[in-house]
Amino acid sequence: MTSIWMDGELVPADEARVSVLAHTLHYGVGVFEGIRSYERADGSAAVFRLDDHLRRLDESARICGLAVPFDRKTLVAACLEVLEENGLRDGYLRPLVYQDDASLGGLGTSPPVHVAIAASPWGAYLGEEGLTKGIRVHVSGYRRPSLGSSLSKAKICGQYVISTLAKRLALSQGFDEALLTDDAGYIAEGTGENLFIVKDGVIKTAPASAPILPGLTRATILHIARRGAEELGLADIREDNITRGELLVADEVFLTGTAAEVTPVREVDGQPIGRGKAGQVTMALQKAFFEIVRGEGSAPAHWRTSFGALVR
Ligand code: PMP
Repeated sequence: MTSIWMDGELVPADEARVSVLAHTLHYGVGVFEGIRSYERADGSAAVFRLDDHLRRLDESARICGLAVPFDRKTLVAACLEVLEENGLRDGYLRPLVYQDDASLGGLGTSPPVHVAIAASPWGAYLGEEGLTKGIRVHVSGYRRPSLGSSLSKAKICGQYVISTLAKRLALSQGFDEALLTDDAGYIAEGTGENLFIVKDGVIKTAPASAPILPGLTRATILHIARRGAEELGLADIREDNITRGELLVADEVFLTGTAAEVTPVREVDGQPIGRGKAGQVTMALQKAFFEIVRGEGSAPAHWRTSFGALVR
């Protein structure tokens, strides 16, 4: 990583610093996004659902009462500039809205709001083999905080403590990822992914009313599934709660997220899912997803923001 965009300027990565007294560092009131760009066969590239991600960033900030000090157009240009500056086609963007401070102001203060945008190369988040063969997951003892005790629809820095600890625990126990239940015991989502199951031609994911982050990849997969239901052999597409029992006897399970893309799950707590390998519907959805993000499949025009057409 060579350059980071900070409040309107490109700064060398090792000079992109905040104060150790930054309010966000102490209390977690900050918001962020994770966004990917994909290279196309002709050497150009496009950021996937950039506008939707920046809209969620703004909404996350508003949920925290933070006013993002740059408009959407500026942030779109900044994201593209960071990718270009760092020579990235297949890249991962991390915009962060945070409150910096130079004094120990305490909870009640609301220091100035800043924006930083970093970019780096990022391959398959859950491993190349995970994308083709499926991953092994663990149902965590950590729960997704309830709607009453968290702001689960927003990507707020402090809310990632539970996800981080659940992920670290799962990795230390030899799993690839953790699933979190909600307070009622339903399986809500992964630490940074939404969850889908497929059973007898019915595809299901937790509803937006559950304490999940309603991911943009989740929405993309629902779009692909609805559009190609017949071809995919799907009898129904549901947004409904998923029990642990349903998860264990599903024909197929997969996770979706900007980082995880569409990753099959082959095992839950040591029990094989279906035949213990990536499922057919999962892989068909994954194929359609990659075709869309790489500019080969048809998709709403605003989903792909092109850049880098002339520079190579
Ligand atoms: N749930 C959580 C908790 C997440 O952090 C993410 C990643 N942003 C997702 C789901 C998936 O969201 P998206 O598809 O928009 O990346």
